[in-house]
Amino acid sequence: MSTAPKAPHPRDAALATVQRLRAAGFAAVFAGGCVRDELLGREPDDYDVVTNATPDQIAPLFQGRTSHVGAHFGVVIVRQGGWMVEVATFRTDGSYSDRRRPDSIHFSTPQQDALRRDFTVNALFLDPLGPSNQPGVSGDVIDYVGGVADLHARLIRAVGDPDQRLAEDDLRALRAVRLAAKLGFSIDPGTSEAITRHAASLAGISRERIGDEVCRMMAHPSRATAATLMRSLGLDASALALDEFSCLPASPDFETLRKLSPQSHQDSGLAAYALDLGASPTAEGGIRVAAAWRTALCISNEEQASLKYMLGHVHLMETSFTSLTVAQQKRTAAKWRFSEAVELVTIRDAERGERLRRVLDELDQHAGGITPPQLLTGDDLVAMGMPPGPMFKRVLDAVYDAQLEGRITTPEDAASLARQLMKP
Ligand code: ATP
Ligand code: MG
Repeated sequence: MSTAPKAPHPRDAALATVQRLRAAGFAAVFAGGCVRDELLGREPDDYDVVTNATPDQIAPLFQGRTSHVGAHFGVVIVRQGGWMVEVATFRTDGSYSDRRRPDSIHFSTPQQDALRRDFTVNALFLDPLGPSNQPGVSGDVIDYVGGVADLHARLIRAVGDPDQRLAEDDLRALRAVRLAAKLGFSIDPGTSEAITRHAASLAGISRERIGDEVCRMMAHPSRATAATLMRSLGLDASALALDEFSCLPASPDFETLRKLSPQSHQDSGLAAYALDLGASPTAEGGIRVAAAWRTALCISNEEQASLKYMLGHVHLMETSFTSLTVAQQKRTAAKWRFSEAVELVTIRDAERGERLRRVLDELDQHAGGITPPQLLTGDDLVAMGMPPGPMFKRVLDAVYDAQLEGRITTPEDAASLARQLMKP
């Protein structure tokens, strides 16, 4: 591991990587999303470098600081200044017989490497050591595909023939949607018509890749725009396994997603999306959609549970929450994903949301709040001579209920209630 101090910014680490490759006589430039983002004045998530050095030639230049995770794709990860920089060799992709990844790759020229990329705005290179030729960007932007013009026109356009590029990898349809939504761009008509023609083929690609794109769409504040594009391009039925769970009329304008606060968690995005697509806001509805998306989007066990919990909480709040006892209300309000569910309920019915907030505020003010520390613990029961067994939890629960309802307020009250309950 390098002991060098961390570079202040990932760009500095990428720049140092380019300089090292250049000093060894190779070509090296920044590529893809980072160039696009710099031109847009956005902070890139990460920096990718492309070079004519092959993985075998890259490794010795960064001794002990490389991982060959994607070496068969010509990609080496370089640890530089405390950051990870992805260094890829200029390449052309071979045919895509499994419609997921190229069967083979061939090392090639910068121009061919630009032509294998998905969209023109993603196919730009930047020589960070060259003279600036674009306002606001330090370096020389190299454009083989008209990407700068499309960036100014705010257009997502396939590189080359859109039908052919989608046939190689249908996932590009979802990437177009995610990128257009995130950047606030339009999809060029030629590309969007091809996406619609290819919509049915989405079913043939890896569910993990589909899920990754959909989850990234739902994690971003532009989630409603993404959902609208998914619908208008005919992508949502096959991507989201709608037959498996939707049973209520869908919200045509994705109102829940639109009203979700921008910084909401991805799981809230997925739950709002499910509701807008017609999932029933009930415990059974939650179970169905969570199971359908576990398969269709490869969501994790935790994400599946999160969806189930949120839709279950929504159901409870929309039916019987206010008629529960105070202890039951507090126990429910303390559950995982409850506050996220309150946001969904409020979006669906502002008045109900307002009433709920008043109830929750009262619970917060009442007898130590919603989750007061227990006046009596299991250890206390053991110290009182109670043997662990089925009664144990029942006594603890009953004592905590009494505490939540304000019927007892001191450890002494709690102990005496426990003694009463323990009597045969
Ligand atoms: P983001 O900012 O969302 O990460 P990105 O453009 O950096 O967007 P990545 O998935 O990190 O997206 O991919 C990096 C680059 O690799 C892209 O800019 C594009 O040039 C190329 N690329 C990625 N996926 C594909 C694909 N399926 N087909 C062709 N080129 C692709
Ligand atoms: Mg990226």
